[in-house]
Amino acid sequence: MPPQHPSAPSPGRLAVLRGPRPPQEYTARKITALTANPACSRRAVLDAAGVDKALLAQRLGHEPRFGQSPFAIRREQSFEALVKWGGYAELIRLLREQLDVPVEEAAVADLTEVGGDASLAVRAGESRRLLNRLAAGADERLILDRPVLTLEVAGQTAHVIPQALSHRTGGQFYVVEIRSFPAIDGQANPLAVAQTTKQAAVSVLALRQTFTELGLDPKAIAHRFLLICPKDFSNRPYGKLIDLRQELDALRFQLSRLRRAEDLAHALSPDATLDTERPKAEIDATMRELDASFTPDCLSFCEMSRYCRDEATDCASPARLGGVVRNSLPGIDSTRTALRHLDGTSAPGPAEEAVIIRLRAAERLRRLRGGATA
Ligand code: SF4
Repeated sequence: MPPQHPSAPSPGRLAVLRGPRPPQEYTARKITALTANPACSRRAVLDAAGVDKALLAQRLGHEPRFGQSPFAIRREQSFEALVKWGGYAELIRLLREQLDVPVEEAAVADLTEVGGDASLAVRAGESRRLLNRLAAGADERLILDRPVLTLEVAGQTAHVIPQALSHRTGGQFYVVEIRSFPAIDGQANPLAVAQTTKQAAVSVLALRQTFTELGLDPKAIAHRFLLICPKDFSNRPYGKLIDLRQELDALRFQLSRLRRAEDLAHALSPDATLDTERPKAEIDATMRELDASFTPDCLSFCEMSRYCRDEATDCASPARLGGVVRNSLPGIDSTRTALRHLDGTSAPGPAEEAVIIRLRAAERLRRLRGGATA
């Protein structure tokens, strides 16, 4: 059976919610963002329905200040082109240096299109066919450029497209990720590396799933990936193997926690809509039906963050101040309530009492400390 995706012809509930716009693809970037906040039903439904979140945020009056700048995207594309230029010379050089493999026979299959057809379904089919051949021992020296893989996410099938997959070396295949942030003296920005490592983990998981579906041994996919980025301040490509076992464990756990997006969508009212062409009030009402789980971290990875932050501020949600504050106020869903209990204008219930006692003690300590240092 061919893989299903939010773009599949059957107009499921998610497709109806999205409206007539073509769906946005799930990407490794989106999957890592989704797993960064697995408690958020809102993002799960928006991504599974393929809604353009940047457009939606704009429509709701919250221009997203988020995402890669066009300049960064262009820089990344031109660096990737450089790595693959001249018959993939730099990619093959780095594979040889890092994985110690002979490259004389290396060949590359470009899967950005198949016979002029760039559709995901055709590319995914061809990727599976070639993976089958490689794993069976044929075309051992074939490198796959942008193979299309599939991964189950929140009950949907996502397409994952790593920049390259190495030929088999030492019995294993390696995912390759190409980024344009520099490695200065062999050290790149740790946050950028962490982000790329999470995305590589998505590709490894998708490859292992594909191998399993094909009846192949998923252990043939290495738990290290090759990161390629510019060396120092030059454009010379530099490569480093990075272990991603920890990210793989974390990713598996987070994916297992994501609720089925289709079930969440079915629980919405019949006239719910996330169609950006519909009146703003209708979309807003649907958004509020979906449970959000805002934390300040959302500002670094989600297009809806300014919308959700304003909503959390309106209802004085403790989570808007971060996980530490939220976890310090169990059972209290509003900082206004906590303040009312503290100044005595309302009485805490039995479940809130312990929290209020702790807050009073903290306030006493703060006053004492203030007095001592004055
Ligand atoms: S910004 Fe909103 S939709 Fe996005 S992850 Fe955070 S709470 Fe969920």
